Amino acid sequence: MIELRDISYVYGGGGSRAIRALNHVTLQIPDGQFIGLIGHTGSGKSTLIQHLNGLIRATEGDILYNGQSIYAEGFSMKELRSHVGLVFQYPEHQLFETDVFTDVCFGPKNLGLDEEAVRDRAREALSLVGLDSSYDAVSPFELSGGQKRRVAIAGVLAMKPEVLILDEPTAGLDPRGRDEILEQVAKLHREQGITVILVSHSMEDVARYVERIIVMNHGSTAFDGTPREVFGHYKELEEIGLAAPQVTYIVHELRRRGLPIDEEITTVGEARDAILQAIGDRK
Ligand code: ADP
Ligand code: MG
Repeated sequence: MIELRDISYVYGGGGSRAIRALNHVTLQIPDGQFIGLIGHTGSGKSTLIQHLNGLIRATEGDILYNGQSIYAEGFSMKELRSHVGLVFQYPEHQLFETDVFTDVCFGPKNLGLDEEAVRDRAREALSLVGLDSSYDAVSPFELSGGQKRRVAIAGVLAMKPEVLILDEPTAGLDPRGRDEILEQVAKLHREQGITVILVSHSMEDVARYVERIIVMNHGSTAFDGTPREVFGHYKELEEIGLAAPQVTYIVHELRRRGLPIDEEITTVGEARDAILQAIGDRK
């Protein structure tokens, strides 16, 4: 469990060019949740998640990891970072080893594990992201964009984190690469039970997979709830530069025209079933 208590963060110190990137954020992140963190560019998403593994230190407020303040004297940030894995935006820019396998070994090696354990972890992490051993000896630079990103995610998974945070993991990928990454992440959550925080500006991505959405706006949390609850505020979301999934608009329009379907539908699959049922009921 991670708890943020009244976190604020200011870039650039106290001078005239200071930017308040986070403004009194209070949040609880229970173990095992799959969370979507959304908001338009500059709303504070990346700043927020870098607090969770101690990369950025809050200007004000406290963060508790399993009940302990991460700012307390003697708290090990190194240990925190092995529990809270952060995959940066465009993580493939941080691939640097000559082959895939060696790259993924980097993290566990740094944890001080013996060679066999490091290799086991690397192999397991690569399998988790769907890369079999035929990729081990390949240079990361010969891979597709989506594959590179999977190698980078495997590098973090090899640390066996309890919490996996991905900062816009689908940015710049084509639709196929995007779906592959999201499917892999959803599978990881399902099968490994780890807490996942998926940062995204795409409502569609988030609606399909997560159980909770936190919407950021100007450094504060604007909405926090299930996708249905949050997308129910689609008019307010528009006002802060976001939009609900396209299917939400279709559902509302169909309701306006008299088709009796649930207005809280957030995915294409749900809409299809509801429309078929509504039409069937009419016959
Ligand atoms: P997001 O990830 O939602 O796009 P960020 O957390 O990157 O938002 O940014 C939040 C605010 O902090 C923005 O106003 C951004 O310009 C500012 N900011 C982000 N990084 C820095 C930095 N290194 N120095 C100064 N300001 C920054
Ligand atoms: Mg960002």
